[in-house]
Amino acid sequence: MIGDRMTIYNKRQKAIAEKIDTETSLSNWKDYKWQLRNVIKDIDTFEILTGIKFGKKERRQIEKTIAKFPLSITPYYLSLIDTNEYQTDPIFKQSFPDPQELIVTKYDIKDPLAEDKDSPVPGITHRYPDRLLFLISNICSMYCRHCTRKRKVGDVDSIPSKSEIMKGIRYIKDTPAVRDVLLSGGDPFMLSDGYLDWILTELQKIPHVEVIRIGTRIPAVLPYRITNDLVEMLKKHHPIWVNTQFNHPRELTASAKESIKKLADAGIPLGNQSVLLAGVNDCPRIMKTLLHTLVQNRIRPYYLYQCDLSEGLNHFRTPVGKGIEIMEHLIGHTSGFAVPRYVVDAPGGGGKIPVMPHYIVSWGTNKVVLRNYEGVITSYKEPDSYQEYFCDRNCKECDLQLNLEGADEFNAVGIAKLLSDFDKTITLTPKETERIVRRNDKKEG
Ligand SMILES: *Cc1c(COP(=O)(O)O)cnc(C)c1O
Repeated sequence: MIGDRMTIYNKRQKAIAEKIDTETSLSNWKDYKWQLRNVIKDIDTFEILTGIKFGKKERRQIEKTIAKFPLSITPYYLSLIDTNEYQTDPIFKQSFPDPQELIVTKYDIKDPLAEDKDSPVPGITHRYPDRLLFLISNICSMYCRHCTRKRKVGDVDSIPSKSEIMKGIRYIKDTPAVRDVLLSGGDPFMLSDGYLDWILTELQKIPHVEVIRIGTRIPAVLPYRITNDLVEMLKKHHPIWVNTQFNHPRELTASAKESIKKLADAGIPLGNQSVLLAGVNDCPRIMKTLLHTLVQNRIRPYYLYQCDLSEGLNHFRTPVGKGIEIMEHLIGHTSGFAVPRYVVDAPGGGGKIPVMPHYIVSWGTNKVVLRNYEGVITSYKEPDSYQEYFCDRNCKECDLQLNLEGADEFNAVGIAKLLSDFDKTITLTPKETERIVRRNDKKEG
């Protein structure tokens, strides 16, 4: 069965390769530069290569959609489309424009995660205390239809210059709290080996940068870019972590697996960030197959994202309940390390918020009632006496012997503050609720 599928893919690739270029055939297929030179950017070429024909009216709508959100598909990804049933094909849906992208709802936001607002210098979003997002590439080999940065796609198809990158690097240098740098884009692997090598070298000169992460969709859309040379270069910069984005088991082809193997063999820990997409993977069985295929290939599922409120993604969104239902089908039912964390990235820039089914059924003074994945309800007796260490953040005099250098400077933030002993805060209240405004008016009056 798998063998059959492989030959179908190979035949399709050969047919596509020969149509693109009569001089070449499969020999060039695995050359990523050839793939990039032959990226599909218009409907005519798409029709010729796939044999799919759109009606006149349909075509006009697709053209309108492309005018707003451009089209770009690698020949490799195109070859994965099931041309016989393309309307329901997850590969087609993720790569080919849908006129529904033009429907803008009143809840859609251009930059829902406020990445631009939380940006101290161009390219950097600094949202969390100890880590930041650094967009080092404005280019992608393929334009995913579900892109959260759709507002930028096809905008300036350029690579930031060294002086622009240096501004970001200088910000990181000047911000000692940053210990984890997340490189994304665009796709960082669209940069040349040399340029990426330079960026990684500069980042690693900064003493407080402990880890570098790269977020990429290349293994799913252009796996041939993961060359031995690229991997040899990355190896020099450990600890490097890579997060891929596979959304459907069909994306894990023999070529994709080969590219993953190279990265894993280079000692790079691999994670995967999927997006929950209506009509693509909003099914517990598809999701479980995807997750199992990932772990078989040494990729640890990391996040499952609720689809953002970016413009043009309305038709991809599911209710949050669908995600929780999928989590219910995963937790306990399969290996713990195959289960991603399901998150809603807070509109307005609050960051990722984990969402899960409830497992605590009730709670008494010294007993907690829990349920498991089978529906078994159990109780856990909490200790009658628990000698808690009073914590005033004075780690030097603490019996726990943490010996954390500089730990006395650590301060609790957010909800953790409410749980701590050393801080007198008893409530976190939004600044301008009607109640608070009334209170302040009274004080002033
Ligand atoms: C997701 C994200 C990070 C990294 O978050 P982790 O939960 O550590 O993976 C950092 N900065 C921004 C702006 C992000 O969106």
